[in-house]
Amino acid sequence: MIISTKKGTPKEELEKIVDRIEKQGLDVTLITGKDYNVFGLVGDTTKIDERDVLANPWIDNVTRVSAPYKRANRLFHPADSVIDCGGVKIGGKEKIAVMAGPCSIESEEQALRIAQGVKAGGATLFRGGAYKPRTSPYSFQGLETEGILDMVKAREATGMPIVSELMSEERIPEFEEYVDVVQIGARNMQNFQLLKAVGKMHKPVLLKRGLANTLEEFVMSAEYIMAEGNENVILCERGIRTFETSMRNTLDLAGVVMLHKMTHLPVIVDPSHACGHAWMVPQLAKAAVAAGADGLMIEVHNDPAKAKCDGAQSLTPDQFDELMGFIRKEVEFFGKKMN
Ligand code: PEP
Ligand code: MN
Repeated sequence: MIISTKKGTPKEELEKIVDRIEKQGLDVTLITGKDYNVFGLVGDTTKIDERDVLANPWIDNVTRVSAPYKRANRLFHPADSVIDCGGVKIGGKEKIAVMAGPCSIESEEQALRIAQGVKAGGATLFRGGAYKPRTSPYSFQGLETEGILDMVKAREATGMPIVSELMSEERIPEFEEYVDVVQIGARNMQNFQLLKAVGKMHKPVLLKRGLANTLEEFVMSAEYIMAEGNENVILCERGIRTFETSMRNTLDLAGVVMLHKMTHLPVIVDPSHACGHAWMVPQLAKAAVAAGADGLMIEVHNDPAKAKCDGAQSLTPDQFDELMGFIRKEVEFFGKKMN
């Protein structure tokens, strides 16, 4: 339920309203904008009678929210959320953030080389995998802790915050200590136990869309994290499974537009996993920016042919550099800036 008050409602009146709602056993957040005050109520609102609420002359409107997501709902938080990712801000209408790096960290030297390469191209976050969710148990599973520590060295050398995928709760202390942004991969988007656990973490969470999940299921997974107290969630569209087989997945750009209506959370796009072909990545990245994405995640490898994971979809640092030259102009065209 959303309750909005009239312009100029005195602070004491707002406090009284919060107090009354809380006394009914509901959770309430007050969001104050320049011209509005909106109360978002979470809990069993069936016991609230709209007529009683509207009897208060300061109250303008009461809306029952039919969507099952509340904290993530745009109605509860009309302004875009801007998430601080180790100093780099993601979200809002003004800036685009680009994170890039190899699918898997393979060595300290490789991590450093790629981090320097993507930084030179204009990335502001370094993304790499140390725990890899591979389809086959015989494929490279990642360097694990050693890979995280290699990324830490790359952060020390470049100043870029680091983003890496967490697959199990037992690694949470390691990620709290070393990682700036915790990625939850597509395969774990509905691992509700893991979502609840990262909801208690003190790091922003980059939540990727599940292989075959609806937008509502996607936002509900963000809601799981937010319900535990961690409101710093960034959504990532990475393609969904359809009947099309010529690409790894089908990039749902319309979903990016819809997500921005459904939720105030930032939405970034990963064109690399969406298509699986390096040659397609630049066009899709450009289209994502045009569709209003708040950022991009791009896989970059210094030697894609020898990559231990996802080489076919990885750009070289030079290709990344060329793409970023275009993205910068595009971002400017849309009146935004690179972050
Ligand atoms: C990844 O980002 O490296 C990854 C495994 O992606 P996804 O979870 O989207 O498949
Ligand atoms: Mn990958």
